[in-house]
Amino acid sequence: MSFENFKLDIDADGIALVTWDSPGRSMNVINAKVTEELSAVVEKVAGDTAIKGAVITSGKDSFCAGADLTLLETLSRSFSETAKTQGEEAAAKALFEGSRKLSQLYRRIETCGKPFVAAINGTAMGGGFELCLACHHRVAADGEKTRLGLPEIKVGLFPGAGGTQRIVRMMQPADALQFLLKGDQLRLNRAKAMKLVDNIVPAADLVKTAKAWITAGGKAVAPWDVEGFRLPGGLVYSKAGMMTFPAANAIYRRETYDNYPAARAILQVVYEGLQLPMDQALRVESRHFAKILRSPEAAAMIRSLFVSMQELNKGARRPQGAPPTQLKKIGVIGAGFMGAGIAYVTAAAGIDVVLIDRDQAAADKGKAHSQKLMTDQVNKGRASAADRDALLARITPTPDYAALKGCDLVIEAVFEDRKVKAEATAKAQAIVPDVIFGSNTSTLPISSLAETAKDPARFIGIHFFSPVEKMLLVEIILGKKSGDTALAVALDYVRAIRKTPIVVNDSRGFYTSRVVGTYLREGHLMLTEGVPAAMIENVARIAGMPVGPLSLTDEVAVDLAWKIVKATEADLGAAAIDPAQKALLSEMVEKRGRLGRKNGKGFYDYPEKGQKRLWPDLPALQKIKLDPEKIDITEIKQRLLAIQALETARCFEEGVLTDVREADVGSILGFGFAPFSGGTLSYIDMMGIKRFVELCTRMEKKFGARFKPAKLLLDLAAKDDTFYRRFAPGRGQKAA
Ligand code: NAD
Repeated sequence: MSFENFKLDIDADGIALVTWDSPGRSMNVINAKVTEELSAVVEKVAGDTAIKGAVITSGKDSFCAGADLTLLETLSRSFSETAKTQGEEAAAKALFEGSRKLSQLYRRIETCGKPFVAAINGTAMGGGFELCLACHHRVAADGEKTRLGLPEIKVGLFPGAGGTQRIVRMMQPADALQFLLKGDQLRLNRAKAMKLVDNIVPAADLVKTAKAWITAGGKAVAPWDVEGFRLPGGLVYSKAGMMTFPAANAIYRRETYDNYPAARAILQVVYEGLQLPMDQALRVESRHFAKILRSPEAAAMIRSLFVSMQELNKGARRPQGAPPTQLKKIGVIGAGFMGAGIAYVTAAAGIDVVLIDRDQAAADKGKAHSQKLMTDQVNKGRASAADRDALLARITPTPDYAALKGCDLVIEAVFEDRKVKAEATAKAQAIVPDVIFGSNTSTLPISSLAETAKDPARFIGIHFFSPVEKMLLVEIILGKKSGDTALAVALDYVRAIRKTPIVVNDSRGFYTSRVVGTYLREGHLMLTEGVPAAMIENVARIAGMPVGPLSLTDEVAVDLAWKIVKATEADLGAAAIDPAQKALLSEMVEKRGRLGRKNGKGFYDYPEKGQKRLWPDLPALQKIKLDPEKIDITEIKQRLLAIQALETARCFEEGVLTDVREADVGSILGFGFAPFSGGTLSYIDMMGIKRFVELCTRMEKKFGARFKPAKLLLDLAAKDDTFYRRFAPGRGQKAA
């Protein structure tokens, strides 16, 4: 019997070693062929009397990355096609049968009568980890990098191959729900403490130990299939169950505002499944799984947060033919808040960093940030003292620009001041004249900064988000003259530090800050219209934003928002800004000295001890006060999201954005735009362009010209088109 993805070796004791090693891939993933072959392997083990049991391991350095999500996308697409030709019911049936194949296969492993052991030799995720859970015993090879988890929720799905039902039979339901709803990736010692793996052994002993469990008489029955099995948390109607499930519902609402159908499905399948024997419970899980697979939220999240993100990470926007750059040494000028973070992520990627500031003390302070971050990691057991020392040894803090010699890339993060930036650029270029130069400016146009460089073709914007070590996005900005080499080097650098890049053209606020600006403005204007501040903040979160617009203004600084309004007015004229917003910010900053979190006073108060709270005097700034009972919550939600989506459409129309994937991925990773929507443009597509245009037109009448639908939207609506259809990624079609 020979397979493409599996190798079967039967030893003298009659134990089959099943090695999963899909050809031409760096990691094993589950697809139709793998499912079919694994099924044949299982039947061979089950049916061959000479085989006593099986050990499943992988021939790669990880066990399995999970299901091939593009395949799941195909399943839901073929649902729409079957629905068109054979009707909704037939399509639903086909989807149900198709999407539960893996679940049935895993149940077969569990009940086939022969013991199966998972020999986990590295990371096992999603469907890969569900396979391990379906085995009767789990042994893992000790490995610092190994992670185990069921992260499906992060792409709008849930574990649909028995994962929810097995997990909830292995631990207390509250712990199981938390594990499933967070999608955490566990280190081995944590997984062992949670009893998700039975044994951790040195890699060299992995297969031997797994086999030994079978020879010692390991049983081919899962605990839940043994008569008298007791659920770890008792029945759902028990006292403990009653403590768990109502609270879980409340927590679910608090955390998701019911925006994530997959999270709701997890609660349902756990609650319903716990009341049923395993086979029926798995059927319930499959029913919900097929339904979630069809949800627009899952489709949008898989597309943006998996497919598109992966394509961007792999260099979808990299200029063709540009040779890859090996970045060994990088210069960071400005060791302040941002520069210190950039130095840390760069050193963490194994690249040497020269960290420059105006004097030694300031440069040292920047390096101290890495020291603190690494010490925290060591204290939490996530890194060793040797890791910390190695990372710190890569950072050279100095005021001496001569140390830049030999750098492959220099990034400046000095004060947001043209003159200071030009001076830093000139000093650096005196040492490394041909280096690629990146600016981390948040507001200054790249094209004009590039003019201060020796060669504007080698100048580019590399815009980080704060806190640098946590934020996953980097926005690369092309100035008018930025060349392909600069773009290729910037992309290679972003890849090296394991962040996701988007590439945009120069514009005031680039893409992300420009769109965030509209969100903040909408919140400010609502306040001036008389909407209670608490309502603005809460409804923003209900809409799916991670923080309300007033809170976010405090984080970026109220005086910065005020400066931007003033600069926009000075550059573009009074019509470019909103007088009500100007009056509010002027009052906050100039009259009340409320600068935001940085001085403990913004739209919120930040007491030294205790939690922040809305500034009690805020209502006094509102000339009008609306009756909260009469405020239309849906309209507030739509306003906050639609204004951002509309601004994104404008960026697309103007050519600031040229790729729908970047618009969507950038909006979720950059400013947390309602992830369940798949991002700003997916939000429009999901609503339907016509409906979105109608919504904007209605709002234009009520709230003003800022809601005027972009021409591109009118055109798409007229032709009954969508962003993803007309601008299908990879076709290189541009809006402008
Ligand atoms: P910061 O004030 O914390 O740091 C600036 C650092 O630059 C200071 O340590 C200063 O001593 C140093 N510096 C000034 N002139 C210098 C010179 N000639 N040579 C060497 N060092 C010099 O500011 P920050 O918040 O880190 O911002 C830096 C840049 O990053 C700005 O352009 C800002 O717009 C941009 N940015 C900031 C954020 C943010 O959230 N703070 C986000 C994205 C981008």
